[in-house]
Amino acid sequence: MHVLPQGPSRPPPRRFRVAFLDSHPETPTARTFRFSTRGTDFQYRSNQAVRLVLPGVQDPWGPARSLSLSSSPSEAGHISVTVRLTGSPFKEALKGMKPGDEAEVIGPLGDLLYDPSRNSVFIAGGIGITPFRGMMRYAADTGASRSIVLLYSARTPEEFAFRAELDALVRQHRQMEVRYTVTRPRESKMRWEGRTGRIDEPWVRSALDGMERPKVYVVGLPGMARDLLGVLRDRLGFAEEDLEYEYFMGY
Ligand SMILES: Cc1cc2nc3c(=O)[nH]c(=O)nc-3n(C[C@H](O)[C@H](O)[C@H](O)COP(=O)(O)OP(=O)(O)OC[C@H]3O[C@@H](n4cnc5c(N)ncnc54)[C@H](O)[C@@H]3O)c2cc1C
Repeated sequence: MHVLPQGPSRPPPRRFRVAFLDSHPETPTARTFRFSTRGTDFQYRSNQAVRLVLPGVQDPWGPARSLSLSSSPSEAGHISVTVRLTGSPFKEALKGMKPGDEAEVIGPLGDLLYDPSRNSVFIAGGIGITPFRGMMRYAADTGASRSIVLLYSARTPEEFAFRAELDALVRQHRQMEVRYTVTRPRESKMRWEGRTGRIDEPWVRSALDGMERPKVYVVGLPGMARDLLGVLRDRLGFAEEDLEYEYFMGY
């Protein structure tokens, strides 16, 4: 496996042509799209983002969107993005792509870099799970041995993307754990006996309990991410170098 060693340096962003491979649903409102990177030298670190450009798409906000990669650098030959489907012209064009259709990616972008030498708490709100799927796959594929606890919230149990894969990773890797919480259980038809309610200070504290020198990563919509970063800095005393975060602007 040829994977860039994880570290603070990042390859400079460039523009690459990629070919659409396939797509599949993750939840009723989210879908994963895979693109071939064969024949390009696109490289990224776990787990950066790209600007995905669909040339020619007529969209009031233009033909490009910033998207975290949901793939891991350890998965050779392709990248994937996982998006919330909103009906925007960009998303409809993405849904309509046929195998072999060309797109462009500008990247890699972003500073959300997994540090395998530290214990980690990953905090994901909704579609903010995307880079963490890549990080957990990367940790599994590269034999990272530090603890990872993922706190993952979604409105309903149906909306947990990658649930089967995450649960399988946890079964295979004793140092990984996923804790789920559902914020709108009444909107669901699925039975849910797990935790309900938002990600809050006591729940974050419980994930950190007994963890040595943890690094905490927060990804989600700006309101949720800002609130939790406030808790981590002001109430739990985290310094900036122990935090990594990404705001999913645009919803
Ligand atoms: C670093 C990063 C990573 C992201 N990763 C993901 C991901 O993995 N999956 C995912 O689904 N989304 C991700 N997003 C969000 C994504 O870029 C889009 O913004 C989002 O998917 C909405 O696009 P849309 O076409 O569905 O919606 P649209 O409503 O068409 O919005 C498209 C764009 O227009 C802008 N916009 C809309 N309304 C206004 C307004 N009133 N004023 C100003 N600007 C406006 C938004 O900023 C948005 O970028 C990420 C965003 C960032 C910044």
